[in-house]
Amino acid sequence: MQKVVIIGGGPAGLTAGIYAGRAQLEPLLIAGNLLGGQLTLTHRVENYPGFPEPISGQELAQLIQRQAEHFGTRILYDEVTEVDLSGSPLKVRTQGNAYQTQALIIATGVSPRKLGGSGEAEFTGRGVSYCAVCDGFFYQGKRVAVVGGGDAAVKEALFLTRFAEQVTVIHRRDRLRATQVLQQRAFANERIDFISDSVVREIVGQQVVTGVQVENVKSGDVWLLPVDGVFVYIGSIPNTEFLRGELDLDEQGYIVANEQGHTSRRGVFAAGDVRKGVLKQVATAVGSGAVAAMEAEKYIAELEGRAYPARRE
Ligand code: NAP
Repeated sequence: MQKVVIIGGGPAGLTAGIYAGRAQLEPLLIAGNLLGGQLTLTHRVENYPGFPEPISGQELAQLIQRQAEHFGTRILYDEVTEVDLSGSPLKVRTQGNAYQTQALIIATGVSPRKLGGSGEAEFTGRGVSYCAVCDGFFYQGKRVAVVGGGDAAVKEALFLTRFAEQVTVIHRRDRLRATQVLQQRAFANERIDFISDSVVREIVGQQVVTGVQVENVKSGDVWLLPVDGVFVYIGSIPNTEFLRGELDLDEQGYIVANEQGHTSRRGVFAAGDVRKGVLKQVATAVGSGAVAAMEAEKYIAELEGRAYPARRE
């Protein structure tokens, strides 16, 4: 029996670990296979307070992990397959074990959305990537396409110019969604060009990717753009499949929770990008992780019939 289990090892889950650890709850954090979440896919974080010089996502994740472990968070690399949230204690089953817990914090974040067209699955790992930080290095002097028009697409297109000779951003509309500062940097970069009003219909190749079939959605014209790699940044989908039927989710699968992270089940709290309608930033993720842990502490105190301390350090 655990006091609090945290599912998810991104900034939200790790911060919940720091706070729950400091509250002497000996949190068990189930991290999946990779600690750090989406943050580890980001080469450069420049808007997280306290780091006036940009820091790599991986480095920041490692620092938060160290802090969580310092306060007693136990990190387990295992995948949650099933939960039973119908009563108390709450039940969590992983691939390797089963746990009972008084409180549960879900911070499972999001995964990259797939294009869904022909060639994508076939060439994943052979020219199709969702992580410029992981795979950009393999495209030294080559030509790559980035699909999407949001912050992630533009930011990672900029990163890819370190390696690739030419980076073509393919966006389905005539205007980017990305913030102005990123747009300006990308427009000023001569290694980046843009194809607007267009979608990728097919990724083509033999052993590896050799090009993409691009369709102009206004004219209907379809043509082949020769590229060696395709980086897909078209948003994300929440990692909540294992929660279906157990918790209120919105139509896209995000967890419905209030500002304190309370979900539709008592003792179950949500933090980070997995919540419905929140700003997806590291700064907001860590804030919500802290709040969820404090709320879990309060809930456990009530459950055990203890008074929750009114003032804290
Ligand atoms: P996003 O903001 O949702 O942008 C997704 C982009 O992909 C949009 O341009 C969208 O087109 C396009 N798209 C969606 N589905 C598509 C499809 N099926 N085919 C082609 N294009 C498609 O996602 P994101 O860029 O991953 O960012 C997610 C959140 O993280 C945002 O809140 C963002 O601000 C934040 N973020 C921030 C930073 C930062 O540096 N501060 C970096 C990365 C992410 P439309 O524009 O037409 O909808």
